[in-house]
Amino acid sequence: MAWQPAENRYEKMKYNRCGKSGLKLPAISLGLWHNFGGDTPHERKLDMCRTAFDLGITHFDLANNYGPPPGSAETAFGEIMRTDFAGLRDELIISSKAGYDMWPGPYGEWGSRKYLIASCDQSLKRMGLDYVDIFYSHRFDPDTPLEETCGALDHIVRSGRALYVGISSYNSQRTREAAAILKDLGTPCLIHQPSYSMLNRWMEDDGLVDTLEDLGIGSIVFSPLAQGMLTTKYLNGIPEGSRAAQNHFLKKDFIRPSIIENIGKLNGIAERRGQTLAQMALAWVLRGDRITSALIGASRSAQIVDCVKALENDSFTAEELAEIDLYAREADINLWAKSAEL
Ligand code: NAP
Repeated sequence: MAWQPAENRYEKMKYNRCGKSGLKLPAISLGLWHNFGGDTPHERKLDMCRTAFDLGITHFDLANNYGPPPGSAETAFGEIMRTDFAGLRDELIISSKAGYDMWPGPYGEWGSRKYLIASCDQSLKRMGLDYVDIFYSHRFDPDTPLEETCGALDHIVRSGRALYVGISSYNSQRTREAAAILKDLGTPCLIHQPSYSMLNRWMEDDGLVDTLEDLGIGSIVFSPLAQGMLTTKYLNGIPEGSRAAQNHFLKKDFIRPSIIENIGKLNGIAERRGQTLAQMALAWVLRGDRITSALIGASRSAQIVDCVKALENDSFTAEELAEIDLYAREADINLWAKSAEL
């Protein structure tokens, strides 16, 4: 019998308004950067998407280059749209992005109008969609006028390819500039996608959290688990099959004793709170209602189940926050922040 979504799927998830827009996003969203390429069996991808949707995760985040090979995560998600999520399009928020290297030659990356519009068309084709809900400029392009990049985003919305636009990893100043241009064009910036976690606080240090609040732009923070470092999996070495074992985006180097010792102490705080470390890390980014959604990744559906339970205990005492700061700041966040500038 065909898969049917859980009837109670909207009962437990929290939905937060995205900035000052009319759109609400789930407090926890699922990203398809890892484990949705040709290296992962389709059954596992399907299981993760079904599990997420059954738990009220309505938002799935993609990009042109997610794989490997680049584009294969969108192709896999397109397949799931056709098989399992057919008929559910209006219950889903699907995003894609362009900015990183995607095809050879001078038009295959960064922020030109030529690249962004062509890439959006390719993403729609791979996913078999008429439109995406959110289309992002994946990174600021220092060599293309911001007016051109924002003009392309505006065109993508006006031509029906996307409903909203966002920017990713832009610093506070560039965010203000892009937001002003987009506002003038009549396509407001809905959302910003920066990296953020207990171990990576650049968006606080840069003033981006305040900027977004000031501008009424929502935020969806990526790698809130520091790619898995903010879980218990590395406390006793690097397990086979984990992201650090691949030594690509999460370097084995990061799993160094000084960091792991502090992560162990953070885990002690989580245990006192009756949570897993992953749950505490997610509750931490969502504390104080300043962040719209925590954008997790997963390699199996049980991790998604674990993560969503973060919402059962999402408040912190001042003492807990101070203790978290102590251990998290002791970990080598500079090394981490650099690696997170993807
Ligand atoms: P993350 O949530 O920090 O890390 C995900 C990894 O943590 C999983 O692959 C898994 O590692 C581990 N994990 C997750 N839940 C767990 C649990 N409950 N218990 C134990 N381990 C758990 O996020 P991310 O995957 O780095 O990024 C999330 C999404 O953000 C991406 O998919 C993408 O959509 C987006 N993103 C955007 C940008 C950008 O430039 N805009 C950059 C990076 C990511 P194992 O695989 O080792 O099991």
